Amino acid sequence: MQVMSVTGPVDEADLGRVLVHEHITIDMPGEELDPSYAPNMPEIVARSVDQLQKLRDLGVGAIVDPCPIELGRDPELYAEVSQKSGVKIIFATGFYMEAQGIPYYWRARDAQEIAEFYLSEINDGVGSTGLRPGIIKAATGLDASPLERRVLAGAAMAQRDGNVAIITHTENSRHGDVQQAIFAENGADPSRIMIGHQDEQKSAKPIAALAANGTFVGIDRIGLDSLASDDHRADMVAQLVRGGHRESICLSQDCVCNSKAPKVPFALSSGAEITVEQFLGNMKPMTHVLTVFADKLRERGLSEEDLDVIFRDNPRRLLTGAAE
Ligand SMILES: [Zn+2]
Repeated sequence: MQVMSVTGPVDEADLGRVLVHEHITIDMPGEELDPSYAPNMPEIVARSVDQLQKLRDLGVGAIVDPCPIELGRDPELYAEVSQKSGVKIIFATGFYMEAQGIPYYWRARDAQEIAEFYLSEINDGVGSTGLRPGIIKAATGLDASPLERRVLAGAAMAQRDGNVAIITHTENSRHGDVQQAIFAENGADPSRIMIGHQDEQKSAKPIAALAANGTFVGIDRIGLDSLASDDHRADMVAQLVRGGHRESICLSQDCVCNSKAPKVPFALSSGAEITVEQFLGNMKPMTHVLTVFADKLRERGLSEEDLDVIFRDNPRRLLTGAAE
């Protein structure tokens, strides 16, 4: 079985360990209008390559960058970074949540039209680049709005024909069950869905309930201390493993490696005023989940086999559709 990366199909045997939710860059529409907009592309490439080479040294063969279409998705940048680092990058088609995304034109489209658009990118590539997404990104905000539900339905309708996984954003870990229901109603394959961002759950119980519905679950903002402590995350992962959900867990960091923006391109939950460099500098390196956090899991009794299932087997099955 294979998954499409920005540089072409990858065999499941070549994936190695996979981080399922990391970002080369995140950018917001309009930032390029700022008179001080002047992204230093060589520096962005160099910083990304450096991070991915460190991952490669830890056995990572691929990352997924599920940047939504409208948040500065840049397939040509991913291709350059992938070629220079030796780490495959799987990128996404799909829109973000209503509060920060979904371009106006697409708000007037129905689910079928959205599905057809996603499939055109999956099959023919993005615009004139010919570079093909390997997953669909889907997202809900605090309320899982009617518009978001329609966009999710489009993602579900495109998933089987496109032979791709769906990776989701949930806001404050809410509405994973709503996402699952919409995907199911619209014919998606649950074994190729990851309900993301479950880090902010108060306990492992609701995450186990999502896993019991047959999708993967992502605790994929590891190291983002403002949302939850890593000790809390590690406790939840250990409980999920003990509860028989080891084969459903995916771990990642939602690390943002770069932004082309001259100023931080979104409001920070802390309300703090910091520079882009400070914002990026506050992020833990992408290796954190495989080093510091993996040790927390070992302290809680997880075996090397458990870690191998979580970092290798689970992403492989999610991304390629391999049965085992
Ligand atoms: Zn993200």
